[in-house]
Amino acid sequence: MKRTKIFIVIALTMLSALALSGCKKTVAASAATNISSESSKSSAKKSDSSEKKSASDSAKSSTAKSSAAKSSVAKSAASSAVKAESKKAASSDNSKNQSNISVDAQNAKQQPVQSDANTIYLTFDDGPSSTVTPEILDILEKNDVKATFFIVDYSQDKIPLLKRMIADGDTIGIHTINHDYSVCYANDTAYLDGVNSLSSKLEKDTGYKAFCIRFPGGSSNTVSKKYNPGVMARLVAKVNKEGLTYYDWNVSSGDAAKKNVAKESITGNVKTKLNKNHENIVLMHDTDAKKTTAAALQSIIDYGKSNGYTFSPISPSTAPIHHKVNN
Ligand SMILES: [Zn+2]
Repeated sequence: MKRTKIFIVIALTMLSALALSGCKKTVAASAATNISSESSKSSAKKSDSSEKKSASDSAKSSTAKSSAAKSSVAKSAASSAVKAESKKAASSDNSKNQSNISVDAQNAKQQPVQSDANTIYLTFDDGPSSTVTPEILDILEKNDVKATFFIVDYSQDKIPLLKRMIADGDTIGIHTINHDYSVCYANDTAYLDGVNSLSSKLEKDTGYKAFCIRFPGGSSNTVSKKYNPGVMARLVAKVNKEGLTYYDWNVSSGDAAKKNVAKESITGNVKTKLNKNHENIVLMHDTDAKKTTAAALQSIIDYGKSNGYTFSPISPSTAPIHHKVNN
């Protein structure tokens, strides 16, 4: 009887030891899968230098955001932006730490690397315009596509256009209160003072709080050097510190190359620069002077939809695209 008991105890001990080791194996396997997927992401990111840049900038801006959003722009969006950006930063840090453990990172280079891969963010600068903006809004609405408008200062008659953007689900960022480079980049405070002033005006007129900005000429512009050497580097640092998010672009439609660029040329520029492996922030314009932008829009949407892209407005969780600062 005693022997049988001892045998049963031994058998049970062996069984539970086996079960435990099985469990450990499962956990280890799943951890390895996660590590491999994260480091794949990391490796694939490295395959595209602009992507790598974007990721590192995203991490940087996350740090800036954690130090609290002070500006009048972005306060409402800041906390969700912080969460989203922190997630990205954490994932990016994790992939850095684990990258040496990857088994088949080489195979992952063809994989989409971002949750917003295949996404097209259409952005329109320099509006609103009483002629071109309504056309663009009509096309967007007809196709159930949302976009982002980086606005300049506007007259009261444009308020209904801004309200329509908001009602349609588009998002609005602040471009500049004055597009004259000699004014907005005249000193270190002019540009952001203007941004805050236009943002307050927009909020008063529509109730909408802008959460992002776009520098005139992009953060890579060199024209500002003529008026204030080093201003872009200082502005970028200040913007990050204040918890603002600035968006450059990685697909230029070329619609601003001259007045009324042929619509085929605008569509062609976008088609050739779109990349399925990461987000695509497309630079376009909605000003009276650029009527062919609206004419090209339908074919850009058609091309995107029939080639597996989805369209989204920039939101606080959209990873920023940042150019290299040249001044
Ligand atoms: Zn502009």
